[in-house]
Parts: sequence; C-alpha cells; structure tokens
Amino acid sequence: MNNLKTYKTSSNFRNIIFSMIDKIINLGIKEKKNFNYCAPSLAQAIINPLKVSYIKKDKLKSLKKYAKVILPLSPTAEQRNKYFNACSIEKFANNIFNKDNITAEQLQEFNEAVKEAKEAANAKLEKTLHVLDAEHIPEIYHLNHDKEKKHLAYEAKIKGSVKSFYIGEKSDINASCMQGKPANYFDIYNDINTDSNTLKMAILTQGNEIVARSLIWIDIPAADIDRRKKQNPKHFYIDRIYTKTQEHRAETQKQLYKDVIKYFNIEIDNNHFLPDGEEPTNKIYLPPCFNCYDIKNKIEAEQNTTKQIFFSNSPRFDVELNEDAYNYYPYLDTYQYFNTYQQTLSNDQEHGSDILRLDSTSGDATNSLRECERCGHEHDEEESFYIETEAMSVCEDCATYCEERGEHILTDEAVYNNHSGEYHYRGDLCI
Ligand SMILES: [Zn+2]
Repeated sequence: MNNLKTYKTSSNFRNIIFSMIDKIINLGIKEKKNFNYCAPSLAQAIINPLKVSYIKKDKLKSLKKYAKVILPLSPTAEQRNKYFNACSIEKFANNIFNKDNITAEQLQEFNEAVKEAKEAANAKLEKTLHVLDAEHIPEIYHLNHDKEKKHLAYEAKIKGSVKSFYIGEKSDINASCMQGKPANYFDIYNDINTDSNTLKMAILTQGNEIVARSLIWIDIPAADIDRRKKQNPKHFYIDRIYTKTQEHRAETQKQLYKDVIKYFNIEIDNNHFLPDGEEPTNKIYLPPCFNCYDIKNKIEAEQNTTKQIFFSNSPRFDVELNEDAYNYYPYLDTYQYFNTYQQTLSNDQEHGSDILRLDSTSGDATNSLRECERCGHEHDEEESFYIETEAMSVCEDCATYCEERGEHILTDEAVYNNHSGEYHYRGDLCI
C-alpha cells in the first residue's frame, strides 16, 4: 500500500466542502444535532477522490476510551482507511443538515450548493484519456442534455468492462453543431473501409464526465494497429478537439494531443523511419492536428530542442469508405469532401458531380454541382435558372431573359424581335 503512505489531503477539496457548508448555513438551514463530525480532520477520501472522508466526535471518544486509540487531526492514510467513513458530497450534506422543515426555495438552493460543490470537486480531478472504437462514436455524439430524451449518460462496454460517460450540462461540447443529433447521422463513421483506414475517438474524462473529445483518423488498416510498435506521425490525423470549457482550452487540447501520441506510440523524432544507412535529418514531425495553431507554441516549448519541428493542421491521407451513398451524413470538420465514385473522404477541395460536401448539420450532404434539366450540362448551383413556364432548372446557356414576362424562359422558346432587340416567349406570340 505504497500510495497510502504518500497520501496528502487536498486543501482544495476541503475548501470546496467547507464553502458548501457555509453556503447552506447561510440559507438558514439548521444542522442536525446528532451528526457531530470532527471538522479539522475532514478530507478527500483515499478510495474515491469525489468522496468525503470524515469521523464523528463520538467515535473519536469511544476509540480513545475503549480501544486506547488516539487519532491525530491529520491521521495517516492507514488510520483514515481503518477508522474514518467515506460518503458522497451529497450524502455528507444530507447527514449534516436537517431538511425536514425547510421551504421549497431553501431546498432548491440547498441542492444548488451541493451540485456546485460536486462540479467543483470534479473539475479538480486529473483528466484521463480513453480511446474508443468507432462504434462508440454515434452514441457519444448523440449524448445531450435534453432530459426527455434521456441521453445523459452512455454506458460503453470496453474490453469487457462497462464504463459510463456523460457530458455535463455546462459543457461547451454541447455547443458543437453535431452534439445531440440522431445517432444515424453518424452511420458513416461505422462504415470506414478498415482494410485501409481506422477511425477512433479520443476522449478526456474527469470522473465519468467527458471534458474533451476528438476524432482520430488513422491511415493504417484496423488489424495492423499495433501499439507496441513505433508509428509514423503521417499516418495519424487528430481532428478538431472539442473541450468542456474555453478556460485552459489550449492546455486541455494539448493534453489530449500528447496523450494520443503516447497511446498510439507515435514516433515524433522521425529518424526511426529513415531507410537504412541514411543520415539523421534532425527534424521532428508531429502528427497533424486540426488545432495545430492553438497548441503549437505550447508543444514546441515543451520539445525544448534545436531540431526543426514540422506541425501542420491538415491530414496527409484520404479515408476510404465501404459505400458510395448513405441515408444521412454528419457535418465533418476536416474530411468534408466525399468522392462517391472513389468512395473516399478527403480534405482537398474537390468539385464535380461525384463530390458531396459534408457541411450540413441537418443530416444531408450538399452537391454543389447541378445538372441542367434541358441539356445535361453540369454547372454551379448559383448559375442555375428556374424556368417558370417549363417548371425546370437549367444552365445559363439554356435560359434567356424575357423582358415582356419579366422572367427567364428557355432559350429554345425565345423568339428574337429585330425591332425591339428583345426576346419573346414563343407561346405568347400569335402565329
Ligand atoms: Zn443547359
């Protein structure tokens, strides 16, 4: 039990609890007489950093009297484990205060004070990386705070054990345009051609709360991902990193980025990939990341090197899909161009009838090119004309403006008037 010997109680945690107690006392809510805890020895529980470790004064007395045990105000971890109780912040508040005859308003403010304390304690926890398989992405994206839909938490089965994740109410992740959308909008994420590419989702959690998330696109077949081997940074792309708060945002993004490099064993000192016999290049290649410019300075400062550092914000590879069409499409931050002929997602701006742009939040994809309903010519949507008389949309060449009608008509139906220099609609003429 080595970790117990080095155990130190967090003064932050104590302050959070005492400030909660003060707030509740100020609400005019009375303390229970029988829950006489020893305030100076209150601390964060060793077994769970979100729980309160406490001892009642009666117990201190009886330990002294009957067991001859005298506990100091700062007990050792062993003593704390053996003699103290641990309970949740909420239960601790309920133990201290008598809520029997309080008003509805007092109860509401009591609950608010407890909730604030829980959030504050949670915010002090270490952030832990989890890398989830693509199958979890729709459910994580689908989480929202609409209580009627009850998608507050997601229970993920990961390597046999069940982990529960949630996104807090006051989280900027909820502001992501795709958060809380129907799960089937994200079907495409589960249909990557895993013989060529792999998609994962990296999340940082505090307790069970997701405080950052990002898609990780990988240019390696799923079966070939071996974290025991050094990986080439060019084969990875860390997409936009969404965070819970704007406060310390770059710091959180940097942590996710660095944790992902470590998790996948990505070799940033690229000498490892030089062909045999070649001189070291004295360069560092970092895996590309959407938020490159937000975290660049921090990452470079940490490298503390004279080597040249290469870091970009766009991926070095396209991603293959299994199908050429889907019922719904998500909005994609980086891989916005879906080449339906090649079945690839790309970051390179492409145009053509085979290209769909995944830049809509309503489940659709945009096809920026239209086919003329008259001649079949492909043209930009903005250069398209709707012909009222024929109820069709056509290209520039197939449309002619008719002054008399004040609208466009089909060029085939336009009759030129030599005298006025204007076009008439054939159907309007008495021939
Ligand atoms: Zn045309």
